[in-house]
Amino acid sequence: MPEAYQAFVTLATTDPYCMGSLVVGKCLRRHGTTRKLVAMVSPNISTEARLSLEDVFDEVIVVDMLDSRDRAHLFWLGRPDLGITFTKLHCWTLTQYTKCVFLDADTLVLCNVDELFDREELSAAPDPGWPDCFNSGVFVFRPSLETHSRLLEHAKMCGSFDGGDQGLLNTFFSDWAIKDINKHLPFIYNLSANAIYTYLPAFHKYGHQAKIVHFLGRYKPWHIPNKQQPPTDAPQWDTNRNLDKYVDQWWAEYYGHTKMHADEPQELQDVE
Ligand code: UDP
Ligand code: MN
Repeated sequence: MPEAYQAFVTLATTDPYCMGSLVVGKCLRRHGTTRKLVAMVSPNISTEARLSLEDVFDEVIVVDMLDSRDRAHLFWLGRPDLGITFTKLHCWTLTQYTKCVFLDADTLVLCNVDELFDREELSAAPDPGWPDCFNSGVFVFRPSLETHSRLLEHAKMCGSFDGGDQGLLNTFFSDWAIKDINKHLPFIYNLSANAIYTYLPAFHKYGHQAKIVHFLGRYKPWHIPNKQQPPTDAPQWDTNRNLDKYVDQWWAEYYGHTKMHADEPQELQDVE
């Protein structure tokens, strides 16, 4: 049964990102995925964070931290923390699986998305900032030690034009923009929160079809306390309250109870 060898994979190198990974796992379970769930974590996360992930995920795998050591580029991008996303490349070493879907820890899965496994490596949705690049928050890949070493070699030789994994992956899978439209995931599989502002009419027309929301950018749901005012230095989150709905849902998932290996999709209880 090929499904037994397929997995959703996420990554967290800090306790706050573990909160995000936990929500990713809980949403996937609640929507009745038939695939395995894998959380990659770095050795520094707390025991509590690790135990809560173990409640939800089939495997919690400790990986070494990789850093692009490309401070100049990261500084340019204004995101010195993103070097850590090079750790993402470890997902290609999960060769106990034949096909995987990677989900950033800052994604919220709104329904069953198992159909993503019908896609091939490397399938991903366009980045809202430069649509000829794919966004690396959601992608379909095939674990392979050979691809993994080629990626590391590529990183060493060419670096990453944005200092993070997205720049590297885009130059490695460089024909994504033009070669095969089947590898272009619809935007509803990686609806970047900021697209709600940049193209509001499209959000009004198509937003209800969203399957995965991505809280891309500096401010994550776990920075916005549940049902409270955003911190004063936060960007104006959502004057139209469109994003608020997803932040509330994120917190409801975070506090929701998850039955391990649910056979049926579960109801989400609203959290007050
Ligand atoms: N990540 C992590 N620790 C960090 C930064 C990032 O574990 O300190 C992981 C996490 O899975 C996160 C992904 O790398 O979702 C990409 O980073 P982020 O989502 O913050 O980047 P963005 O999507 O905002 O560009
Ligand atoms: Mn992200």
